Amino acid sequence: MSGFETVNLEAVRNAVNVCTMCGFCKSVCPSFKAIGWDSALSRGRIILSYGLLTGDLRPDDSVVENMYTCTTCADCERRCPSKVKIVDIIELCRADLVKSGHILPKHRQVCENVLKHNNPFGEEKSVVETLGIQPKKAKIGYFAGCTATYRSKKTSQASLSILKKLGVDFTTVDEVCCGSVMQRIGWDEKDIVALMKRNVDAIASLGVETLVLSCAGCYRMFKKEYPKHVDVPFRVLHMTEFLAEQDLKLKPMEGVATYHDPCHLGRHAGVYEEPRKIIAAIPGLEFREMEFNRSVAHCCGGGGGVRSAYPDESAAIARTRIEEADFADYIITTCPFCVSNLTLGLDGRTDKKVVDLMELVDGLL
Ligand code: SF4
Ligand code: SF4
Repeated sequence: MSGFETVNLEAVRNAVNVCTMCGFCKSVCPSFKAIGWDSALSRGRIILSYGLLTGDLRPDDSVVENMYTCTTCADCERRCPSKVKIVDIIELCRADLVKSGHILPKHRQVCENVLKHNNPFGEEKSVVETLGIQPKKAKIGYFAGCTATYRSKKTSQASLSILKKLGVDFTTVDEVCCGSVMQRIGWDEKDIVALMKRNVDAIASLGVETLVLSCAGCYRMFKKEYPKHVDVPFRVLHMTEFLAEQDLKLKPMEGVATYHDPCHLGRHAGVYEEPRKIIAAIPGLEFREMEFNRSVAHCCGGGGGVRSAYPDESAAIARTRIEEADFADYIITTCPFCVSNLTLGLDGRTDKKVVDLMELVDGLL
C-alpha cells in the first residue's frame, strides 16, 4: 500500500474550512440515522477530511468506513446553511483513499469488473447481447444501464416495451458502464472518462439526437457529470421526461400510491414533476405524497457504494423510507437501484409493492 497523499482533497481545502460545525446536517443524514455515530454524519466526515488534510489523522479502517457509509444522497448539502459542497469533499476524499490503496474489497471487485467486463457485476455478455436488440441508426437511443440490464431487468424490459408500444423508432446502444459506480467510489478519473468517451462515441455514431434513460444514476452521469469531461452531442432525457411529453392513454387501476424521488434524479438533477405527471395520468389511482418529498425526500440507502459494502446500514435506511410510506399500497420510483433497495426494505411484507414507474406504465399501456 502506498503512502497517503491528499492530492484530490487539496482542491476543496477551502470548502472544508467553510463548515462551521453547526450540525444542521445531522437532522437529515441517513447514514447517521442508521449508524448513530457523529463520525458517520456529514459534519463528521468533514472533520475527518480536515484531519487528513492537516496530517493529524491517518487513513485507518474507521476513517475508511465512515467515508464509505455515505450514500451521496446530498440531503446535507440542501440543509447546510453554509452551502458546503459536502458530497464533492467526500468523493474527493474517497479518491485519495483509493489512490493510496485504501479501497474496500467489494469496491475493488466492482471497479475491476467494470474494467474487465464493462459492467460492475462481472457479467460476460454485453448489454445489447443481454437485451437481445442490436443497435441501428435512429434519432432516439435507449441507454439501459447495467443494473436494469443484469439485475432489475423489469425496468429495461418495460422501457423497451413502452417505446415499442408508442411506435417510437429507437435504437439500443452499444453501451458500457456509465461510470457512476466508479465515480462514487473514487476510482481513477482517467478510467471513468474513458468510459464516458466510449459511450458518447457509440451513441453519436448511430445518429442519435435524443438519449433516453430509465436509471437515475446513469441519467445523472450523462446530464451532469459527462459534460464536465466530454462533449455530449445529443439531448439527454430520463424516460419520465420523455413520457411526460407523450399523450399517454393509460388503463385504470385501484389503490393508494406514493412516489419516492431517487436522489440522483431529484436532488442531483432536479427532475421532480414529470414522474408525478405520469402517475397523475393513471385513472383511479389515488396519489398521496410522503411527508419528505421532492428536494427533501429521504434516501433509499442504495447509493454511493453503501449497498455493496455495508448492506446492513443500507437496509436500515431502506426500512426507514418504507415506514414513511406506510399508508401506500404502491411505492413508485424511477430508478432500478431504488426499486431493488426499497424492496429489500419491505422485509418480506406483502401489503405493499415497490415498483418502477416504467413497469407500471407498461402494464397499463
Ligand atoms: S450525502 Fe447523504 S449520506 Fe452522505 S453525508 Fe450527506 S446526508 Fe449523509
Ligand atoms: S450543516 Fe454544513 S456547516 Fe453545518 S455542520 Fe453540516 S456541513 Fe458543516
